[in-house]
Amino acid sequence: MLYDVAVVGSGFSAIAATIHLLRLLPPSASIAVVGDDPGFGRGTAYRTEFYVHRLNVPAGRMSVFPEEPDDFVRWLERHERQATADGFASRGDYGLYLRDRLAAQLRDDDRPARFDFIKAKATNCVQCGDTGLVFHLNNGAELRARNVVLCLGVGNADLPLDRRKIGAGVEKRIVRNPWRLSWLSKVGRGERICIFGSGLTMIDQVLALRVHGHRGPIRVLSRRGLLPRAHAPAGERSPPLEPKLAQSRDISDLLAGFRRQVRRDADWRGLMDGLRPMTQRLWQDLTEEQRARFLRHGLAWWNVHRHRIAPEVASRFDALRKDGIVTVHAGFLQAIEAGARGASVSYRERQSGRHLSFNADWIVNCTGMERAGVAHSPLLQQMQRQGLITQDALGLGLSVDAGSRVLGGNREPQPGLYAVGALTAGQFWEITAVPDIRVQAQAVAGAIASSLRV
Ligand SMILES: Cc1cc2nc3c(=O)[nH]c(=O)nc-3n(C[C@H](O)[C@H](O)[C@H](O)COP(=O)(O)OP(=O)(O)OC[C@H]3O[C@@H](n4cnc5c(N)ncnc54)[C@H](O)[C@@H]3O)c2cc1C
Repeated sequence: MLYDVAVVGSGFSAIAATIHLLRLLPPSASIAVVGDDPGFGRGTAYRTEFYVHRLNVPAGRMSVFPEEPDDFVRWLERHERQATADGFASRGDYGLYLRDRLAAQLRDDDRPARFDFIKAKATNCVQCGDTGLVFHLNNGAELRARNVVLCLGVGNADLPLDRRKIGAGVEKRIVRNPWRLSWLSKVGRGERICIFGSGLTMIDQVLALRVHGHRGPIRVLSRRGLLPRAHAPAGERSPPLEPKLAQSRDISDLLAGFRRQVRRDADWRGLMDGLRPMTQRLWQDLTEEQRARFLRHGLAWWNVHRHRIAPEVASRFDALRKDGIVTVHAGFLQAIEAGARGASVSYRERQSGRHLSFNADWIVNCTGMERAGVAHSPLLQQMQRQGLITQDALGLGLSVDAGSRVLGGNREPQPGLYAVGALTAGQFWEITAVPDIRVQAQAVAGAIASSLRV
């Protein structure tokens, strides 16, 4: 069968694209989703069952429909959850909301286009004359489609350490992918944990350890030791960006104006949020060299100020630091070796340059998502070899145009081939969270719907 659209992937980007396609495509259309995760729509972010794992964006900005901002808040109310537009719901509930929204769309009497979910991994892809693309799946089947939306996410970053510097016998103590939460049940109540990375993934894992009954010490090590900042408490409002600044196209002017406003008492968090609608434009105005400079020097600071945590989550984490349960170190990992008392972790302290070490029973890689171009995905690597896609200049993901159409080896948009989500960061930068991805998913669905009408 030749589908009108194939969506490849099974996380938020895929379910958002599917929901918008179901809304916009005529009943005669057909959509196939191929994803290797049976929990369609949940992806890494929303499959957690821990209530302590909260959204880091207020509920009022998490609707899958940009033009119905309170859709998720209404869903929370209907399901008797605490619901306010500026509250931070649980991520597990958000996963349920997405599934509900898809089910509602499929029940819609007016226009249920055909929808098939194929649980499989797409392993390679070839162009098939004028009729579109053919994917080969790891279950031996083939999937043919006129239009394709790639929603593959980005890979998990590896430990920042050459494998040769990891001693024999310690590998079984290293948790390379903490998103497989089964590792928590292996940890003894008082065991010593060392976490690499000090961002959102680390905070999640610390809270999950506590819920699981862990009471031992947790050392956190990252290059800068920077921690995600907290959102302002619900209900606190701050002035918007000065109108002149909001028009600015120059990063230095913007930063100077930003500091000026903060000195005059504006809450930096409100100003940061005020940047959101203009971030994509600002990024696109930068030269490639300026973008590279931002990634080198600004990324770590951007991440902790931009991707903030719920105030409740911040206060739980702060309490653990005050009690001495969690300690945070800034330094560069040098080696992990087998020691008499567990694994010995050595690092060079950032400020002093001293070489230090400590022992741990478990070493957990929380360095988060990796923006590694196409390296994380065998499918994308194969598509690159075929000339169907190209990596963007900074190696963040795929080259796409302003309409999210994927650029092939000839730098031209590939007919009917789109990408949604963080893979398109080279073009949009601010495209990792729901408020941005939902807009992109809707636009791509709209473009496909228009092409099918022609
Ligand atoms: C822990 C966490 C918490 C977050 N919290 C928030 C939040 O509170 N608010 C917010 O707005 N954003 C949040 N985000 C950011 C954002 O919402 C997510 O990153 C978003 O879910 C990304 O979805 P995705 O579909 O692009 O990628 P992913 O979720 O990574 O999904 C990609 C999927 O594609 C599948 N796949 C890959 N290759 C293939 C293949 N070849 N064939 C078939 N399937 C394949 C993968 O298995 C995976 O299931 C969070 C992110 C994380 C990681």
